[in-house]
Amino acid sequence: MMSPATRHRVRLRRLPRRVAPFPNEHLSSYLHRLGEANGLPGNAFENHIANTAIPDRETIHDLTGLPERTLIFALPELRTPDDLDTYPALRGRPTAVGSSNYCPYCAGLRGPARPVRVWATHEQVLCRRHRIWTGGPVLTCEDRWSRIDISELPDVLAAHHRHQRLIVRFGREQVRHAFEDASCLVHQWHKGLPWPFRSVHARLAILEPDPGRWCLSSAICRTAEYPVTVAVTTFLADAAWRNRLLHMDMVDRQGAIDCLTETVTDGAVPAGVFDPLLTQCIEQRYHARAGPAETVS
Ligand SMILES: [Zn+2]
Repeated sequence: MMSPATRHRVRLRRLPRRVAPFPNEHLSSYLHRLGEANGLPGNAFENHIANTAIPDRETIHDLTGLPERTLIFALPELRTPDDLDTYPALRGRPTAVGSSNYCPYCAGLRGPARPVRVWATHEQVLCRRHRIWTGGPVLTCEDRWSRIDISELPDVLAAHHRHQRLIVRFGREQVRHAFEDASCLVHQWHKGLPWPFRSVHARLAILEPDPGRWCLSSAICRTAEYPVTVAVTTFLADAAWRNRLLHMDMVDRQGAIDCLTETVTDGAVPAGVFDPLLTQCIEQRYHARAGPAETVS
């Protein structure tokens, strides 16, 4: 629906080539592709849509001729709070909160073409169809446009299934926050502790045979850590496990730690007795986090 202010603005000329947005695409990513497809790369396209610093849905509609519904569903930045009343099917779709790469094969980019950026939920770390790691919003790394083939890593795919089941069991936002903590924790353990994660190194060896190139800030490192991160998330998301650790007697507490070390750290106990980073993560779980949800609700 057009806003009253819209009726008085200058309409932009429709571009000759129509370009469909990818699901949940960043507006900037879409506009860049739209400009390129119409022979207006970079600044030329920005000049074309001058005076609309943040293009609204009417502007995009003018430029593309795409229906309002298509734009609202595909481009989260163009939505308003009222849209949920008109389109209840928006519920559960990603909001403009967490960013990820879109699978280059789903985007049809076989060569070194420009990557597509999308809004994603925290568990959207891979493309199951093409067995490609896309990274998701939480597991940050230095190489932004990596293209990692995970077809030889069934434990990464299995961890992804577990991750999705955790969301069903504990709720999306609770698992999201636990996953954020777990990813930080596992990465710190991997960087700082003397004992190696044997499973992480085994996965790294498949992704990159030369250990000299196992950079800790690389995407392959975050990929190899992912199953461990999901395992730790399982503990952090579970209030019963946290309570055993923080409030019960020593025997119960030791049992909770044993369960974690057997499942996650190959029997090693972080920091000798107990790891302050882990304790911090567990205690912080009691303080609700503010911030926008990663899906429309
Ligand atoms: Zn794909």
